[in-house]
Amino acid sequence: MKCEHCGAKIDDDSTFCYSCGKKVEKIAAPTMEEKVENIPSQGGFSGLSIASLVTGILGMAIIPIILGIVDLIRINKGIASHRGKVFDIAGIVLGALAIVVWIIIIIVGLTVFSGFY
Ligand SMILES: [Zn+2]
Repeated sequence: MKCEHCGAKIDDDSTFCYSCGKKVEKIAAPTMEEKVENIPSQGGFSGLSIASLVTGILGMAIIPIILGIVDLIRINKGIASHRGKVFDIAGIVLGALAIVVWIIIIIVGLTVFSGFY
């Protein structure tokens, strides 16, 4: 490619012009790459995915499921980081387990109470 400052022919991979020493800005392709790389690095694990996992561990039943689904939708739209996907799924699974546990507790509780009367 040609240097945009002095017009000298320079290597495609080089970031500086050998002739004038100015920084060579690459057009289109590198900026696209940067954008793609920036989405996961900016967000890391999204707050929602962490919230989903934490509330899931705390056994908050429906809350981690909602948070996990919302974050998965955000990941599909490209807003949230893909790294949070594991947390979202873990949060949804833990939330589902928590619902099952809560139902068992309620049934057992009702059975115990009905036994008293
Ligand atoms: Zn130059």
